[in-house]
Parts: sequence; structure tokens; C-alpha cells
Amino acid sequence: MSQLHPYRKFQIPPNVPFELKPAPGKGWGLFATRNIKRMDTILDEIPLFMIPKRSQDITEMDVANVVHSLSASDQFVFECLRDNGSEPFKTMLLALKQNFFAVPNSPPTGVYILSSRFNHSCVPNCFIIPRETNMVTYASQDIAQGDELKFCYNSELRYQVAEERLRTLLFKHVDCKACEPGSYRDISDFRRTLIRALEYLSLGIDKNAKQGTPFAIKHIDPELRKKAESGCMTLTSRFIYDVFIVALMEAEGLQDPIKAGDLLAQLEAYGRAFQTSRNAYIAKLAMSQPNGCDKFLIALRFWGRSDLGDEQAIAGSQRSAMAMRAILQALHH
Ligand SMILES: [Zn+2]
Repeated sequence: MSQLHPYRKFQIPPNVPFELKPAPGKGWGLFATRNIKRMDTILDEIPLFMIPKRSQDITEMDVANVVHSLSASDQFVFECLRDNGSEPFKTMLLALKQNFFAVPNSPPTGVYILSSRFNHSCVPNCFIIPRETNMVTYASQDIAQGDELKFCYNSELRYQVAEERLRTLLFKHVDCKACEPGSYRDISDFRRTLIRALEYLSLGIDKNAKQGTPFAIKHIDPELRKKAESGCMTLTSRFIYDVFIVALMEAEGLQDPIKAGDLLAQLEAYGRAFQTSRNAYIAKLAMSQPNGCDKFLIALRFWGRSDLGDEQAIAGSQRSAMAMRAILQALHH
């Protein structure tokens, strides 16, 4: 009789919409056992244990001490962990490094057995966020029974094109349509370049630039770029850029509700800043549309229009652009 794989011994909570099984080319993965609706909770997991240190400061001894203090059944679970689903880990620290999430507020590092089984995708269908010390996974789009559940391991990747992502991601991942050469990747790269350029036009800074990484900005018309950098964009222009970002994020499958919520809140704020009543009406109409593409089509009515609130908004954005630049400079030095 063949030995049962250690992962078969993990307790899967009842009623979760997934199963844990081998994923070809990736070790193990989680797969939907029924259709899942966007925003449904997929998993709400308590940590196996937590360590009150940041992951980079944790030593083998720290992990050993905590593991030895666990109940026999929890120790057994930790010992079941396998490197890429196959080999036993050579050290406890390595097992922790591949199964932890950083949690805001103390204690900052927790080991999560099932949340760590999701594979990465640059076009995710799930997103994961901490709630107190739990890790909670939600569906970021409708998911069909049988589909693999995947989230994006690093939110920075959302703004990178395939070539940049390959440099950022330190592991190989397979079965990712945005990374495999082909027409989907070409379109995806184009959309992400556009998202980054639009964000630059809206904010006048490249929030996601790594030091010395030239990106979409070099493609922007120099005059428009100067206008963005000096915080002189009109409210109608910013509204168009941001609503276009929403449409592109949706098309890319990157509209996790936190990011989408931030963007929509920003759009609502621009909407409130309009002082020309026709513009306020267009903004309201755009925001009432069900998706980004329809919002964008309505927002195009702003093309070439100014607003009575522009002067005030420009003064405000010049102040915040200065503050933002100071923060970014401090971060990079
Ligand atoms: Zn990928």
C-alpha cells in the first residue's frame, strides 16, 4: 500500500470551497470544489503559531523553541510540511520561511498551513488579507468549480510587465498566461504599462518605481509629463486617467477590492471636488455605471473640459505632490 502524502493528513475545515491536491508542475495547490462568487470568503485561517519578531530576524532556535512548546498534534502538522510539497525541510527555519505571512501589529510573523498552499499567479483569482492574527482569503473574481485558486504573492508585481516580474519573482511559476510568451502577454504588458503611465499622469510621481527602473514614464509626451510633475492636471483629466486605470485593472484581473476601493474612493473625491455642475453630473453618472469600461466611456465626455474647482484642486495637489516626493526620497535614501 502506498504511503499517504503528509499533506493528506492536514485538517481541512468543513464547508470550505476547495480541496488540496497535487498541482502539475507546482507541487500542491488548492482547487475550487464548487463555483465561487467574487468577494466570497474562501478561507479564514488561524495561525499554527506566531513569533513576535519580523521574519528576517527569526532564527532556527526561535522556531525550535516555539515548535517544541506546541501541542503534539500541532507539532505533527508542522512536521508534515514539505519543501515544494515533496521533500522534508532541511531546517525548521526554512519551513517557516515558506509558510509564513507577515501580520501588521504584533506579533508580526505567523505560520499558516493552508493559506500557504495557494500558488502564485500574476493574474490572480483570489486575494489574501490579515484580519487581526487570522489570514483571510477572498475571491477577487467569479471562480468555476475545478479552477485552481491563486493569489499574487507580491502586490508590486501588479504594475510590472512580464520581463520585470521575472526579475522580481525569485521562484519559477508555470501556467501563468500573463508570463508565457504569446498574445495574452503582449496585451497584458501593454495594459500594465498604460496603468503605470496613467498613474503617473494622475499623481505626477511613479509610486511603484524601484530605484533606477525606467518604465512607462519615458513614453509619456514631455509636455504632459511636465504638467503632471508640476501638479497642474485638471480635475477632469485626473478623473479620466483614474477611471481608465479602473477599467484596465478590471481587464487585467487585478481589481482586488482593496485596490479597487481606494481607486473608487479617489474618483468619488474628484467627483465631489467638481464645482461646474455639468461636470459633477457626468462624474455621478460615470460612477453609477456597473464596470470600469462603462465608467470610462461616460468619463470621456470630460475631454477638453475644465472645471471651476481646478484652481483649488491644483493648489492642493501641488502641496501633496511635494509631500509625496519628500516621502519617496526619504525611502530611497
Ligand atoms: Zn506570471
